[in-house]
Amino acid sequence: MGPIGVLCLQGDYREHLKTLSQLGIEAKRIRLPEDLIGLSGLVIPGGESTVIDKLSHINGVFDPIKRLLSQGMPAFGTCAGLIMLAERISDGIQGQESFGGLNITVQRNAFGSQLDSFEASVPFLNDYVSAAFIRAPIVSQVSEETEIISKLPTGEIVGVREGNIMGISFHPELVGELAVHSLFVEMCKKADFRAEL
Ligand code: GLN
Repeated sequence: MGPIGVLCLQGDYREHLKTLSQLGIEAKRIRLPEDLIGLSGLVIPGGESTVIDKLSHINGVFDPIKRLLSQGMPAFGTCAGLIMLAERISDGIQGQESFGGLNITVQRNAFGSQLDSFEASVPFLNDYVSAAFIRAPIVSQVSEETEIISKLPTGEIVGVREGNIMGISFHPELVGELAVHSLFVEMCKKADFRAEL
């Protein structure tokens, strides 16, 4: 397997690099198009999706990432990263774009002001994971190909997977939770993808 990249433009990319290194994976920092060559997967961190969108265009990685996702590159996004992987964004700013890949709609900042941030044990596949929610989006619409991998007891969809792409509303990387990243590493191994520009 080639390296797993972490998009290091804005947001909590350091925590993703640390989480992957705790799993014994040496992650590669991705800032420019040529950094993408050879990747077997890409992590898109949490942060601010509007800023990640703008900086991706400025650095010239927006179109290459969009194309690699359509070619089947495994990807994993947390929070703003989930927003970047959604085909449709509701409550985006004017002109906001995403890489796409997940045939879903996400609603930004869906948890309202008084519940902006909280920590929780979240149902994830057949288990629970620890995570922080920070101005988190929810998945407001899914399609036939969407596998729902995390749903809160109150019904909100907060984790999905389609093929090699996984997105969650919350941040396991901020609380030392390793299970979701570990699953992503397995997805990358199985996909055996190598990015070419
Ligand atoms: N609200 C942010 C956005 O719209 C996401 C917050 C986060 O990544 N913790 O991008």
